[in-house]
Amino acid sequence: MLYIDGEWRGARSGRSFEVTNPATGEPIGDVADGTREDAAAAISAAAEAFAAWSQLTAFERSDTLHRAYTLMMERREALARLMTEEQGKPLRAARNEVQYAADFFLWYAEEAKRVYGDVLPAPRPDQRFMVLHQPVGVVGAITPWNYPVSMITRKVAPALAAGCTIVLKPAEQTPLCAMEVFNVIHDAGIPAGVANLIPTADPAPIGEELVSNPHVAKITFTGSTEVGTMLAGRAAANMKRLSLELGGHAPFIVFSDADPVYAAKGASLVKFLNTGQACISPNRMYVHRSIAAEFLTALETRVGGMRAGNGLEDGISIGPLVDAPSLEKVDRQVKDAVAKGAQLRTGGSRLTSNGLDRGFFYSPTVLSGVTPEMEIYSNETFGPVAPVIEFEDEQEVLSLANDTHYGLAAYVYTEDLRLAMRMFEGLDYGIIGINDINPTAAAAPFGGMKHSGIGREGGREGIAEYLETKLGGFSI
Ligand code: NAD
Repeated sequence: MLYIDGEWRGARSGRSFEVTNPATGEPIGDVADGTREDAAAAISAAAEAFAAWSQLTAFERSDTLHRAYTLMMERREALARLMTEEQGKPLRAARNEVQYAADFFLWYAEEAKRVYGDVLPAPRPDQRFMVLHQPVGVVGAITPWNYPVSMITRKVAPALAAGCTIVLKPAEQTPLCAMEVFNVIHDAGIPAGVANLIPTADPAPIGEELVSNPHVAKITFTGSTEVGTMLAGRAAANMKRLSLELGGHAPFIVFSDADPVYAAKGASLVKFLNTGQACISPNRMYVHRSIAAEFLTALETRVGGMRAGNGLEDGISIGPLVDAPSLEKVDRQVKDAVAKGAQLRTGGSRLTSNGLDRGFFYSPTVLSGVTPEMEIYSNETFGPVAPVIEFEDEQEVLSLANDTHYGLAAYVYTEDLRLAMRMFEGLDYGIIGINDINPTAAAAPFGGMKHSGIGREGGREGIAEYLETKLGGFSI
């Protein structure tokens, strides 16, 4: 269903589309297929609701977000199960995602009350300067399928806290999770028109409406660099404000003084999280030559012990890929690497036994001896493959790590404080984990440099993305 102006309704076209479970291929729901006209109606509702919502006190908006937090936590288990069915991640990971998603409601319920202004020194004795921050207006948001709940709250919570209204188009693979998030928002008592949801099987016309409708002041997008770049061009032509969270190609660097077994544990946990379908997933593991053998043995053992399957079953640590093209891309990258001389340490094929052929499962894979000629070296995999590359010295690995147009996340393992600081400063990435595989939280700014995006989500930076700065000059 579409959620427009405070009501659940069908699409104007009367059409709907099927949603399937990527682990079993079974249909799990039928969702109204929103059209461009539906998006325009939602934008009108959001534009109309803006005046009243933006003029509420921050305390009143905060109350609604607090209620949304409480409701999402009450519904955590049901939401997590739905996410596992619709997106495929193991239930434990889905529960963690719901917590992370709810955290954005809580954090921005508080940040709503911290939007301060400034009084500045003025050049004339009879002049006073005052700066205030006001909501940008109606926000058009587009979100991906890989984190189908938290990617929504990471946008909706700060936008609503700032006093903006929003129209959101979720990914076509995961509209059911999006509907449940909007049920939470509805039940939290959000006024009609403030938050609107347009699921669709055909994203381009909705995207075009969002980037061209004059009522939309800002576009916020999370997804591929390719689609983000296209939408950014269209939005810029219409002078919309922009935030983009795009692809990544994270280096994971293990220096000679690090414990190779501990680093391999971290590598296995972060690489195979969400079946490698995370924008901050490590895509190149640079390991110092002196400890590479030990690292590889430990990594191989851990990865070889992972069990793939339906995430609702106990003991499953790796779910399916989202669809057939993703499976083909992963397999193509692995075959290309092996053909060009990489060693396959474990995995390397589609999983089909015990009913897994009904889903898009690929065995968790470790490759060593990866070189720049291989496709996997320079292209985001978005799948369960760990490519390991040996290196000799610090300057060499720093320039290899930075030699990409992506700049989202990077990871470093070392016990040497000075080296850690040099890496933190030298890596051209927006998020750096030093001996830390999870440098993310609602309180922390998340986002990338270079072609990985523009702007930040989370933290105090996250609400600034939805605010305009206004200067007042007063002559007294
Ligand atoms: P995608 O760009 O194809 O899809 C993302 C969203 O864009 C979906 O809602 C989709 O419906 C929509 N979309 C697709 N074509 C569109 C069009 N022409 N007009 C308007 N909307 C359109 O990306 P994907 O393959 O589904 O997601 C994976 C990518 O997302 C990866 O590159 C990953 O790194 C990136 N990602 C980034 C972050 C981040 O925070 N930086 C988080 C999650 C995913």
